[in-house]
Amino acid sequence: MSVPADSERGLLEAVRRIAEEVAAAAADDVDRNARFPAEALEALRGAGALSAAVPEALGGQGASLETIARCCFELGRRCSSTAMVFAMHQIQVLTIARHLDGAPWFESYLRELHQEQRLIASATSEVGTGGDMSRSIAAATPEGEGVLSFEKQAPTVSYGAHADDLLTTLRRTPDAEPGDQVLALTKSGQAELEPAGAWDTLGMRGTCSPGFLVRARFASEQVLAAPFAEVMNQSMVPLSHILWSHVWLGIATDAFERARAFLRASARRRPGEPLPAAARLSHVMAELTLLRGEVSQALHDFQADDVDDRARLMTMASVLRFNNLKLAASEHAPSVCAGALEVVGIVGYRNDTPYSVGRHLRDALSARLMVANERLHATDAALLLIAKEP
Ligand SMILES: Cc1cc2nc3c(=O)[nH]c(=O)nc-3n(C[C@H](O)[C@H](O)[C@H](O)COP(=O)(O)OP(=O)(O)OC[C@H]3O[C@@H](n4cnc5c(N)ncnc54)[C@H](O)[C@@H]3O)c2cc1C
Repeated sequence: MSVPADSERGLLEAVRRIAEEVAAAAADDVDRNARFPAEALEALRGAGALSAAVPEALGGQGASLETIARCCFELGRRCSSTAMVFAMHQIQVLTIARHLDGAPWFESYLRELHQEQRLIASATSEVGTGGDMSRSIAAATPEGEGVLSFEKQAPTVSYGAHADDLLTTLRRTPDAEPGDQVLALTKSGQAELEPAGAWDTLGMRGTCSPGFLVRARFASEQVLAAPFAEVMNQSMVPLSHILWSHVWLGIATDAFERARAFLRASARRRPGEPLPAAARLSHVMAELTLLRGEVSQALHDFQADDVDDRARLMTMASVLRFNNLKLAASEHAPSVCAGALEVVGIVGYRNDTPYSVGRHLRDALSARLMVANERLHATDAALLLIAKEP
């Protein structure tokens, strides 16, 4: 990772402090009680971090993707749920900001987001299409002049009950094909979220992501004008894979650091005695290094294409590149956590020691399911047969 510009150092420092002083202190309680990390989100709001990605012209900080990714990493080291909530929100903000096309409603919305530090959740997956973001069943339905509505069965909406606003994928009209989609942003008061179950999960418990039946009524100008295929390929998918991976890298890094701290403490207690687990730690470090390399290279590749020619992000080679990031990171991160657990042993398996890594492992296992890896392999398998070499 390179050094951020001076103007962004303040943001990164503030987020790092919140990660260490607020998110870390609450992380076990958030996990144990599957509760929203309200104190960390309040602190992030206080630091203006929720509008980090809003362009400066609209009042925000216009922070680079690199700085936002580093914030996700820092939060991931201390509380996975806080980090994932932050990452998902930033993905929605960046997606809107990158496809604004001067739309007055969206510009004024981003100004408001900055002033009020509003939090955006997303409903892209759907009962019936699962994690396939490129198809929708729910449709934007005309309800008279300039008014639309929809009803969507969303199986997983992270922090849906705590968000101000909701970004939702829909079919363009009730007659449209499943792949003819739009993205609609609804504000609190315009959408009703009826809970469809609880969120008592293995990991990522503080993201509070149960299913909801979402019913909304809103103005037609709240639909992003850009073609959804463009929004999805140039922004939503690669940004999701990049920011999620930074969260997972943060989780894996902390698991590794705990394992190393455990071994160093053991070495201090029994100087001169052999530490067989040290070799295992070296294997874990090698895997963490691979993970870190892939995560930072993918960020670099995205930025290079984005600056040179954003249309390159629409190519099959680009889809393969960012799917590969997600596949690699989602498999290496839990593997590093499992390796750290083997190094620490029972002290790491217990939930009440400074070297506990059970929460890290449970949280990291969610990575494979955040869009099922087999689904991505199926897409990649088809593309590999026809895509040109990058
Ligand atoms: C912590 C967490 C937070 C989330 N937050 C949100 C959120 O805020 N908003 C949101 O919209 N979604 C969210 N999701 C949902 C997520 O993004 C996926 O959409 C969802 O997990 C998909 O559901 P599923 O696991 O049933 O997989 P599905 O995609 O329905 O797949 C079901 C099964 O079929 C297999 N499968 C599917 N397609 C193929 C294929 N082509 N080839 C081979 N096998 C296949 C899969 O491997 C899986 O075993 C979240 C998920 C997690 C874990």
